[in-house]
Parts: sequence; C-alpha cells; structure tokens
Amino acid sequence: MKLEAKLPLILAPLSLVPAVLVGTLAWREASPLDGDAALALLAVALSGGVAVAAVTFLLLRTLLTRRLRALQQAAGELGRGNALVPLDVQSRDELGDLAQSLRTMGHHLRQSSEQSHYLAYHDSLTKLPNRLMFGEYLKRALAHAKRGGRTLALLFVDLDDFKHINDTLGHAAGDQVLIEFSQRLLHCLRADDYVGRPDPASEEGDSIARLGGDEFTILLPDIEDAFRAATVAERVIAATVPPFWYGDQELHIGASIGITLYPSDGVQAETLIKNADMAMYHAKAKGKNTYQYYREDMNVAAVRRLSLETALRRALEREEFEVYFQPELDLASGRIVTVEALIRWRHPEDGLVLPGQFITVAEETGLIVPIGQWVLTTACRQAAAWRDAGLAGLAVAVNVSGVQFMRQELPELVEEALREAHLAPTALEIEVTQAALMRVEHSVVRQLPALKELGVAIAMDGFETGYSSLGYLRRFPIDKLKIDRSFVAGVTTEAGDAAICSAILAIAKSMGLTVTAEGVEEPAQLEFLRERGCRLIQGNLVSPAVPASAIPALVQNGRR
Ligand code: C2E
Ligand code: MG
Repeated sequence: MKLEAKLPLILAPLSLVPAVLVGTLAWREASPLDGDAALALLAVALSGGVAVAAVTFLLLRTLLTRRLRALQQAAGELGRGNALVPLDVQSRDELGDLAQSLRTMGHHLRQSSEQSHYLAYHDSLTKLPNRLMFGEYLKRALAHAKRGGRTLALLFVDLDDFKHINDTLGHAAGDQVLIEFSQRLLHCLRADDYVGRPDPASEEGDSIARLGGDEFTILLPDIEDAFRAATVAERVIAATVPPFWYGDQELHIGASIGITLYPSDGVQAETLIKNADMAMYHAKAKGKNTYQYYREDMNVAAVRRLSLETALRRALEREEFEVYFQPELDLASGRIVTVEALIRWRHPEDGLVLPGQFITVAEETGLIVPIGQWVLTTACRQAAAWRDAGLAGLAVAVNVSGVQFMRQELPELVEEALREAHLAPTALEIEVTQAALMRVEHSVVRQLPALKELGVAIAMDGFETGYSSLGYLRRFPIDKLKIDRSFVAGVTTEAGDAAICSAILAIAKSMGLTVTAEGVEEPAQLEFLRERGCRLIQGNLVSPAVPASAIPALVQNGRR
C-alpha cells in the first residue's frame, strides 16, 4: 500500500489524541452543565482534532510524499540507464542527501556512457575515428552530397613498407609511427586553406579515420574541384618526407593513396570504399609513395593540372605575366574613356598565353590571389602614368575573381593600390563577374559597399539574364553592366540575342546603370546597340587588347 494511502490510517487514530484530551477537559468543565451543552463541547473538541489531523496530512503530503515520488522516479530512470533525469529535490535532510547521491550516480553514468561511446567510435591508439564512425560519417556525407548536388572525394591512404618497421623494430615502434603519422595527417587538412573548404570544426568538415593497421581514410565531403583531392594527397605524401623517430632510430616511410569521387565513380558507400582501395593498389603498383585516381582519365588530367600549377608559380616568380589593355569607346562622345586590364602570360616556349588557359587553375589553386594583386597594382600604376603623360580622364578596369573576394579584404587592397600609385579612385573600375557574384554572394555583399565608398566604380561582367532573379541588381551597388560577348555576337543574326540585348539595355536604363557591350566586331552590331541606347562598346571593332604602349595612340584617335 502506498505511503499516501497509509497516512489517513495513521492520522485517524492520532487525531483522536487531541480530541480525547480536549474532550476530557471539556467534560470536566461541562459536567456541572446540562447534558446538551456537555455534548456540544465534546463535538467541538472532536472536530478540532479531525481538522488538526487533516492539516497534518496535507503538510506531510506536500513535504514528504511528493519528494519521495520524485526520488523513486529518478531511481527508476537511472536503473533504465537514463543518466539525464532531472531531479528537483534540494532539501537539507535525508531526502536531500539521497537526491544528491542519485545525481552523482547520474553524473558517473553519463561519464561512463560517453566513454564507452568514444571507445566504440575511436581508435584507441591514434584517437582518430575508427571504421565504425567512418562508415556512419560516409553515409551521412553521401546523403548530404546527394541533396546538395556536391562532389565528394574519398582518399584511401596506406603506409608503404610499414610491416617492415613492425617486423624489424617491434610493435612499439610501429605504434609510434602510426601516432605520429595520424598527427601529420590532421595537420595536412588543417593547413588546407583552399577556397570553399568547409569549416573543419563543423560536422560536415573533412575528416580522417584509421580503419585499422596502417590504413587511413580521408573524406572530403564537399569539393568544388575534383583535383583538390590530389592536392590533399600530395600534401599527405609530403608529410611523410621528414623522418620519423623511434628513440634515436631514424625511420623513413611513404604513403600510397587511392582517390575515388562521388558521384562520378560511384554513389554507394561500399562501391566508393572498394574503388579507393583499388586505386590505392594502383598507386602501390606505380612504385609506391604516390596517388592514383580511380579513373585513369582523372590521373592524366591531374598530371597536366599539376604541371600547369607549378608553371604558374614559376611564372609569378619570374615575372612572366603582362597586362594588356582593351579600350571601351563612349558612343556619345566618340572617346575612349576606359581601358580594361587583361592579363597575358608570356610563356618562354609557348609564347603569349591567354587567360582562358590558366585563370581557372589559378583560381582553384588560390594563385589568383597574388596574380590578381599584381594586376591591380600594375593597372593602377599604368593609369597614373597615362594621367601624367596627359591622357586625362582615362580609367582602368580591373577584373577581380570571386576567389579574391573570399580570401582577401579587397577594399583594403584597392585602397592601398590607389594610394601607392597616387591614383584617384574615379580612375579605377572593378569588374566582378555575374557568376562569381552569385557563387560567393556573402563575401561580395559584405565588401562591395566598402569598395563603392572608396569611390571606385563597380561593373558586373559577363552580364546575361539567365540567372533566375534580377532582384540582386538592386541589392548590389553596381554602376555598370557589361553585356556578355555571346549575346552581342548574335544581335544582328539571332532574334533571341537581339531581344536579350534590348531587354538588358531597357533594364539598365530604368535602373540608371551604364552598359558596355562586349565583343563588338561588326559595324552592324555597333549600329544595333547605338540605336537601343548602349553607351559604351568594347571589342575588336574598336581594338583588341593591346600592350600599354599602344594605348596613347588609340586614345588620341579613338573617335569612330
Ligand atoms: P572578360 O573580362 O569578359 O574580358 C573580355 C574578353 O573578351 C577578353 O578575353 C578579350 O580579349 C575578349 N574580347 C574582347 N573583344 C573581343 C572581340 O571582339 N572578339 C573576341 N572574340 N573576343 C574579344 P581575354 O583577354 O582572353 O580574357 C578572358 C577572360 O579572362 C576575361 O573575360 C576575364 O574574365 C578573365 N581575365 C582576364 N584578365 C584577368 C585578370 O587580371 N584577373 C581575372 N580575375 N580575370 C581576368
Ligand atoms: Mg572583364
């Protein structure tokens, strides 16, 4: 029977005690009185006793049984393994002590369940996630990649000749190498400052696991560029170059790495693991200490890409880049008002290389940052030199990649370049491609107003109406639209292109934006654009991009 139910049974006889006492006294007082009065007094005394008993019952119920019930519930939950049960009993008596003990038990239970969870999901030697955790993480990452239409890379890393260390120096030496190697692996990902890399601290970040023995996996759950996996693989291989030490024994090991990609190589976790494993064996067969993609065409492309990256770095060091300039003609005044800076690479063997051949790789490798900075300062200095030579009012337009917005504080760089060249901000225009604006919107949104405040003009490059919403035109502080060459090419032959160009010119007019039509090659195109109110034209009809030295002559007789 519950304590609460027992209480009335205990309290009923107890309630009689004060009642009998009061009754006896009342009887003695009332005996000289008549019988009715004596009975009345007795009744009052008894009901007083019952009231006292009822109050005591309620008090006991509030003070005792409610707390007992909470403790009973907490003990039951703890027994079922639930360590997070809330227990609101704080009194300074035995029940309070009991509650405290239950809380301590809960705390210990929580700690030990966390510990057993950690042990189940981590490798005890290297403290890296183990095969179980890797499997779960891979499945989750695949689901995310599927939903977001992303590319995922899985790298399978196997140490070369690790068995030899274990066999000759014993397992303690092998363990030490594995611990040191796992630290170096973590460093490889942390050092990865590639653009667009997910936050390493986030759930969705890159991750490393030890599957067992000398096998490790690296998961890159969201890569914009499949070659980034090769960059990480190279970094891992480079990380094995410094010797490992066991006591004063110097050890050298290498790593063979297999790379597979979702979705191009497979969509199931099992398939991807198998592919990466196979690719790793190819790497071993290629002579070890190297990486291989699962697909052969990726290997060919990766080699080509790597050599281009190396050549670009060298080109930067050896100052092989040049800036050409292409005029923009103001149709109203017939004057060249702006010249666009366009990078060229004077390759020692291949001659003049156009940016289409290398800008993408420069962006993917981050090299666009120093390259873009060099173009900016060179263009500003050139504009100042033209001004000093008497070409007043000529502005330079500099193309800026979305990657630069993500990696740098462009307003600061622009301000510094202007100051260094003693150039007025009105003589500089920054061109941002529409595609970059859409992709890296956040960093651009933050920086464009600051750029604008400096007084430089902002142009949206490669403008087309394909992006579903034009609402962003209002959100960005843009001065100018540059109509993409592909539309201008068809204005006199394709009804669709003519309609699009007319629409862009109408939108720009209503929003008070200047328009430059790019890639104008024929007089008929120029006339079409002039009739629809296009203010500026750029293209081979006026002049192709030329070295800086050719600009003064063009400006002086620029009128058409
Ligand atoms: P863009 O900014 O749209 O530049 C215009 C491109 O069209 C230039 O190509 C120019 O030479 C070409 N062009 C101009 N008029 C005509 C024409 O009438 N006919 C034809 N067929 N082409 C014409 P270029 O110099 O090869 O540059 C290609 C792209 O590379 C540029 O497109 C720009 O997006 C990028 N780029 C160039 N220099 C830089 C730079 O310093 N930084 C960055 N981030 N990107 C740059
Ligand atoms: Mg441009």
